[in-house]
Amino acid sequence: MGKVLAIANQKGGVGKTTTAINLGAALAHKGLRVLLIDLDPQGHLTEGLGARRSYMDTVPSLYELLVSSKKDSLADIKVSTETMDLVPSNIRLVLAEQGLIAQRGREYKLRSLIEPLRDDYDWIIIDCPPTLGQLTDNALNAARAVLVPVQAEDTSIRALELLFDQIESLERALNVNIQIIGVVATMVEDTNVARRTLRILRENIPAMLPTEIRKRVRLKEAWAAGQSIFRFDPESDLLPTYSELADELIARYTGEGNGRG
Ligand code: ADP
Ligand code: MG
Repeated sequence: MGKVLAIANQKGGVGKTTTAINLGAALAHKGLRVLLIDLDPQGHLTEGLGARRSYMDTVPSLYELLVSSKKDSLADIKVSTETMDLVPSNIRLVLAEQGLIAQRGREYKLRSLIEPLRDDYDWIIIDCPPTLGQLTDNALNAARAVLVPVQAEDTSIRALELLFDQIESLERALNVNIQIIGVVATMVEDTNVARRTLRILRENIPAMLPTEIRKRVRLKEAWAAGQSIFRFDPESDLLPTYSELADELIARYTGEGNGRG
């Protein structure tokens, strides 16, 4: 049974998509079968894996699958990229926030779509939009496990508290458990101010993971080239970092929120 993971933070630009691509690539590098799902209407994950052209006009798209009761399957809309499969985003996903509200069992739509694919993959990773809405709720409920990237800057603690509150209220509303795998610091710079901010984060957020993703312009370049860092720059010092993050994920994941205690 494949493990499902949501990568969420309602703040934009904190490294969710970059983490999804490169954590996915790290898992694939270990010989694991990985499916990425781009749940952000902006399609940055899709673009970052060089698949943008193949999704813009495609119908049905993830949007139609989420809001219609037809029996279309994620398998019909997935594409293959370098080492991972991808369910691409579609511009119509912007309509999904509204479209899902009218649906019965709306928080279970993505979960039901993923279910038939769980034997085909070891890891299914969902890249969330920068919002706390229906799409993110769908991802959290589909995965019941979440990894939270955070940019090491001072406003982050409040944003994290909001996210944790949202997760708790979703748990109560659906009567499920959602495991917070951990919070991973991204874009970490080697400066005194960054070190200090990170120390404050570590003091306040027990879920902070040991791994820190350093700031590297090569990551931006890889995204623009439509490739993971594993393909774009195999010599990058970030490969061992993402591999270590993948190991932490594998070690901590219990699924269905069982690790919460
Ligand atoms: P989100 O998905 O949370 O909006 P992204 O992963 O798209 O965030 O990252 C935002 C921007 O920062 C992108 O341009 C991305 O290439 C860049 N970026 C992300 N992580 C790093 C990093 N470790 N070093 C340098 N740039 C990064
Ligand atoms: Mg993103």
